[in-house]
Amino acid sequence: MENADAVVLRTVDFSETSLILTLFTRQFGKIEALAKGGRRLKSPFESALDILARIRVSFLHKKGDVLDLLTEAKLVKRFRVVESNLAGLFASYYVVELVDSLTEKDDPNPAVYDLTVKMLNRLEQGTLLMRSLIRFEGLLLKAIGQQPSLGNCAECGAVMNDTEQKRVAFGYLDGGVLCSRCAETLRRTGHGQFLTSLSANALHGMKQLTDPRDITENWKRLALERNTQNEIRGLHNYYFSHLLGKRPRLYDWLNFIAQNDKEEILSH
Ligand SMILES: [Zn+2]
Repeated sequence: MENADAVVLRTVDFSETSLILTLFTRQFGKIEALAKGGRRLKSPFESALDILARIRVSFLHKKGDVLDLLTEAKLVKRFRVVESNLAGLFASYYVVELVDSLTEKDDPNPAVYDLTVKMLNRLEQGTLLMRSLIRFEGLLLKAIGQQPSLGNCAECGAVMNDTEQKRVAFGYLDGGVLCSRCAETLRRTGHGQFLTSLSANALHGMKQLTDPRDITENWKRLALERNTQNEIRGLHNYYFSHLLGKRPRLYDWLNFIAQNDKEEILSH
C-alpha cells in the first residue's frame, strides 16, 4: 500500500459505480487508478474525487499496464468555484490538461506537483490569470526539461542581445530564439514554417514572467502592455500546440480567460 499527496487531473466514468482517475502525485508522479464505488453517493472516498481537488490517497500500485487500485482518498482542498471566476476555473482546467499531457506515468517530479498546487491556489483568486498561466507554462517546461532557450540562440548558442533588434526570430523545432544567421539558414533550407518572430518587448516580458529566480514575485507587478502579453500568449499557443502535437483541448477557452482577466491594480 502506498500513500501520496495528489491533484486530480481527470476522472472518467468506468461503470455505474466506479471511476478511473488520473492523478498527479507528489511522491510517484502521474498514476491512473480505479476507484471502485467512487461514483456512489456514500463512497469510501468522501467525494474527494473531483477534478482539481487536492487529496491524500492510499492505493495499491500495480505493475505494468494494469490500473492502480485506489483504497482511500481524503479531501485536502477543493477548487472553490465561484461564478465571478469562471475564467479562473477554465484556466485551472488548462493547467491540469498541460500537466496530464506533458508528463509520463510513474515518473516522480515533485517540482511539477508543487507548481501545480501553487498555481491552482493562485487561479482560485481570480486575478492576473493570463500572466499566471504564462508563468506556469514557463516553469512547467523548466520542470520537465523542455524550456525554450530565451537568452542564447537555440541552434548555435550565440548570446542574444534583445535590445539590439526590434524583433527576434523564434524556432519551434529548435525550441527558442535564433540568431539572424541561424534563422536565415532555416529559411533557406525550406524550414521557414517552423519559424516565427517576436518583439524585443515580448521576449523581455517572457523572460521576466517565467524567471524561476523571481522569489519576490515581481512578475505580478510588471508593467506589461496588453498587446505584449497577447504576443507572448500567441507564441505559447503555437509552442504548446507543437509540443503536444495538437491544440490543447482548452485552447478555445484561452481567449475567454484573457477577456475575463482582472488585472490587480497595485498601488504603491
Ligand atoms: Zn545561431
